[in-house]
Amino acid sequence: MIQQQLREKAKELLSNKTVDLIIGFGEWTLPLRTTPVFIRTPEGAESLVWNSFCENNLTAYLHKFSRLKIGLVVKGCDARSVVALNLEKRFPNHPPLLIGIPCQRLVDRKKVKKAVKGEILQAVEQGDLLLVKGEDVNVTLKREDFLYSVCQVCTHRTPHQAHILIGDPVEEVSPVEAHPDVVALEGMFPEERWNFFEKETSRCIRCYACREACPMCYCAECFVDSSRPRWIEKSFSPSDLAFYHIVRAYHQTGRCSGCGACERACPMDIRLTYLTQKLNQEVKDLYGFETGIQPEAAPPLSTFDPEDKQEFIK
Ligand code: SF4
Ligand code: SF4
Ligand code: SF4
Repeated sequence: MIQQQLREKAKELLSNKTVDLIIGFGEWTLPLRTTPVFIRTPEGAESLVWNSFCENNLTAYLHKFSRLKIGLVVKGCDARSVVALNLEKRFPNHPPLLIGIPCQRLVDRKKVKKAVKGEILQAVEQGDLLLVKGEDVNVTLKREDFLYSVCQVCTHRTPHQAHILIGDPVEEVSPVEAHPDVVALEGMFPEERWNFFEKETSRCIRCYACREACPMCYCAECFVDSSRPRWIEKSFSPSDLAFYHIVRAYHQTGRCSGCGACERACPMDIRLTYLTQKLNQEVKDLYGFETGIQPEAAPPLSTFDPEDKQEFIK
């Protein structure tokens, strides 16, 4: 069983001091959730869990522990973020040791809650099924009907970049359909697109949970907090909200692994990944580049090639 193998490997890495700290997932008090755990002793490895609710991109925590030798539990998308950060020279001391687990795709707890009437007190996975229980609840659901949309369209689920792989690699299958929100966006006229974008962003309370959850947002001072120069006012005006969301999306272009952590963190249920996934698709079509797949390839938007297409320069 994957979880047991993970615990044993973590124990071994901490016992022989290969790493100082393991960052992984642990049980949480609420059903359908896990929590990040930070383990420093071999005994502590017993608290590691692995299931379809291990949804954080734990790579975001690496910025806080730059001096330690870290063992990081990664899915396919998380490993790609580590590769992208490595290209940005984020690990000058100790690059993390990646403990990769081929990803079974994650269950979207909001979809489950919507489908189940009553309070959920327990959710247990049994193969492809999800057994959901509560005081007046006792239902069995099919896991695949409740996946996150980014996971439904994910190709690279096996963290091939990992130093240690726990479990067998899963087949890389390109999804038949693109991200449903991207498909919808592409089918809109420009004015409709803008209205869609404004409608989504109008709910933003500028809490920046999306930024905090993203491993690629690590600037010591984010442009939204800068007062000299002041790029953006601290208001909820449509132009300020649009500015934040457009700049955030462009900052991720060619860097985003499509993990979906930003969208899951948003307390206002704002759809964020349609923009980043659309930009990822553009970068792939134009430059044949996907974040974190080729460990040595620099992101197209941070390099210059005289052979680049330049029709847009008049
Ligand atoms: S995006 Fe892919 S690798 Fe990441 S959690 Fe979803 S299915 Fe797994
Ligand atoms: S922008 Fe969102 S989907 Fe992309 S890497 Fe950051 S958290 Fe993941
Ligand atoms: S997490 Fe949601 S509400 Fe908070 S800043 Fe991001 S988009 Fe806005």
